[in-house]
Amino acid sequence: MNPETTAVAARTGTPAPRRLSREDLLAALRARGPEQRALHAAALDMKKQVFGDDVVLRGVIEIGNVCRVNCTYCPMRRDNNRANSSFFMSVSDILERAGHIKDAGIDVILLQAGETPKAAAIALDALPQIVALFHGSVEVILNLGSLGNERYRRLRDAGAMTYILKHETSSDLLHAETRFEKLSQRMQEWYVARDAGFRMGTGIISGLPGQDYESLADELVFLRSMDPDMISVSPFVPAPDTPMADVPPGNVDDALNFLALTRLEHPRALIPSVSAMEKNSSGGQGAGIAAGGNVMTINFTGDHQGEYLIYGKQRFVVKTEHVSRVLALNGARRAGSVWI
Ligand code: SF4
Repeated sequence: MNPETTAVAARTGTPAPRRLSREDLLAALRARGPEQRALHAAALDMKKQVFGDDVVLRGVIEIGNVCRVNCTYCPMRRDNNRANSSFFMSVSDILERAGHIKDAGIDVILLQAGETPKAAAIALDALPQIVALFHGSVEVILNLGSLGNERYRRLRDAGAMTYILKHETSSDLLHAETRFEKLSQRMQEWYVARDAGFRMGTGIISGLPGQDYESLADELVFLRSMDPDMISVSPFVPAPDTPMADVPPGNVDDALNFLALTRLEHPRALIPSVSAMEKNSSGGQGAGIAAGGNVMTINFTGDHQGEYLIYGKQRFVVKTEHVSRVLALNGARRAGSVWI
């Protein structure tokens, strides 16, 4: 935790998580108008008690766009690998971009890719050099999918500090229908990665077909059992060339209410306001910061940005100027890693 954040936490003490009854969770998820404003204000107050005005900035480098998984909502799904223009970054490319992140004064680097052994191997090679570039003062976060115990341990030993492995939905049925894998397998991987020594992130998609407010309340209860270090919520973004291209986008108000509830339930968690908020509703990312979010991620992928098709070619790519605007509008202050 950085010194200023530590000082804020020490001044105020750590507020106790607010665990709402199921009835109250459902009412909060449905909130609009004055009730919604009160919910977001309570979440922002909780965030300020722990983190003050700080919003942690990360730089993401998308190091490869090939994936062995076949998620129905993602244009980088296995069925599209041949049709997509595929790439894997070289270690020197990654280091060049890491240098840009360092120059921007950011000390949190997220390496992200589709799930393949090759992307994991590239990250493993790059890690010691990234750590050396920052003279050890860097938090490297990995989001490379399910890799198994041995790879997690090697990546941790090479200097990665945090791992993001989103379960996306805790519904067994929806998980199997959208990811073609068992939820139990994904969760087992999550705990294996945590046992390897990582601080752990997870995330869900809101607005998937078949989800309702009861399902979102289920998600919040499920998260209590995980106690993650980082939690994200992304409103569903329909993407071209996927089986879900014609599904309506996820409602951003629902996602914002979910974000606010995660803040109340997990006061110390890192909670990003993600680009999908902005994609589905202009101003959505700022609304996420106003509802208790405390992380924003700037894209440093460079030339390959257009090939990383997580939401298709029309995704909202977060740049430094956008983040500066959002922070200024919300009276927030950029901050570094809370772990180094
Ligand atoms: S969402 Fe992730 S795991 Fe699923 S297909 Fe896309 S890149 Fe692969």
